[in-house]
Amino acid sequence: MDVSNEDFCIHVLNNLPSKYEVQVSKLEDRLGSVSNPLKIEDLQNELNLKYARMKKEDMVDQALSAVGKYKGRCKTCSKYRHGSSQCWFWKRMMIMMIKMITSQENKETSSK
Ligand SMILES: [Zn+2]
Repeated sequence: MDVSNEDFCIHVLNNLPSKYEVQVSKLEDRLGSVSNPLKIEDLQNELNLKYARMKKEDMVDQALSAVGKYKGRCKTCSKYRHGSSQCWFWKRMMIMMIKMITSQENKETSSK
């Protein structure tokens, strides 16, 4: 199955938690744009910036809470009792994006 760049971006944007709404609306503006189309690399960069910030906040929370289990909500997916650095939601998303980027690169090299 061949998933287009745009379909993939839409899929990712639709699955992001509400914490990302600023990033999502910014990125959605570029969907279908001819002059500045949204690339998975851009999506990844934008989300990584946000993630880095949330991970830092989670680390502060974690340092303030008692030693042991993480008690707060994950700032990345806002659902589970883990910190952003252990977020499986995020990890799965990143793996998906990296796979997509790699498969596109392979396609480009083999078509040359
Ligand atoms: Zn999480």
